[in-house]
Amino acid sequence: MFRLDGRVAVITGAASGIGAATARLFAEAGARVVLGWYPGDPHDVTPVAEAVTAAGGTAVAVEVDVSRAADVERLVRVALDELGGLDVVVANAGIARRVPSAELSDDDFRRLLDVDLIGVFRCFREAIPHMRAAGGGRLLATSSIAGAHYGWPDHVHYTSAKAGIVGLVRTLALDLARDGITVNAVAPGVVVTPQSSDPVNSLGPAALEAFAGAVPVGRNGRPEDIAAAFLYLASDEAAFLTGQTLIVDGGVSLQLV
Ligand code: NAD
Repeated sequence: MFRLDGRVAVITGAASGIGAATARLFAEAGARVVLGWYPGDPHDVTPVAEAVTAAGGTAVAVEVDVSRAADVERLVRVALDELGGLDVVVANAGIARRVPSAELSDDDFRRLLDVDLIGVFRCFREAIPHMRAAGGGRLLATSSIAGAHYGWPDHVHYTSAKAGIVGLVRTLALDLARDGITVNAVAPGVVVTPQSSDPVNSLGPAALEAFAGAVPVGRNGRPEDIAAAFLYLASDEAAFLTGQTLIVDGGVSLQLV
């Protein structure tokens, strides 16, 4: 169950957090992976590539800024040329920025959308012709309960992008259903990663610890919790599931207060 033997997966934001855990898990499930990593951040992709190799897999690391179409084209080209195909895209790269809504400029709004929403679409669009030609594929994205389910004060651009992913996967799922391509998102709750550990733009360590107590299952998410959902969505067993945003949050969105 949930094997990816012989599949090629492109994962963005693969040098850290959810993307890194997804790359490791996909490799353990038999996939060869292209690790999209962003040189503007301090994350080192080498340990992720080493973990993939240790799991018996193959990894190719590619620098990518998902807000640049040429970078995304190159990312997909590497999958095709060096690994021989493209079966799964996990468009996971994202940024969170804390800005009071009344002070948010058009440029700052656009810059975030360019990564968190249009960046997802760019990765999907680039993959579609190849998946069509191959008779199918899996297009997967990382949304968030912030936007897909809740608001998040001072993050109007982030929540707009993450809610936008909900609509994006619905429409693309219809557009691509007859091509054997399913399109889904995961909306994580609070997961301990570099993003959520940033006290300026997200929760930070103290608030993360406090939040864990409010989660019905009694802890915050781990990157591996989200990777496991992506593995299911990428697998053959998820062939009848499309256009959905799967909330993976330890039950936190079930509570009224
Ligand atoms: P993270 O910061 O470790 O991962 C984000 C990754 O995206 C980083 O590796 C970063 O280098 C990369 N990135 C940033 N800008 C990029 C760009 N322009 N081009 C390509 N890559 C870029 O944090 P994470 O929590 O693992 O985030 C992964 C995804 O999960 C993000 O989309 C995030 O919004 C989403 N998410 C996180 C949480 C959480 O609690 N951690 C909750 C819901 C959703």
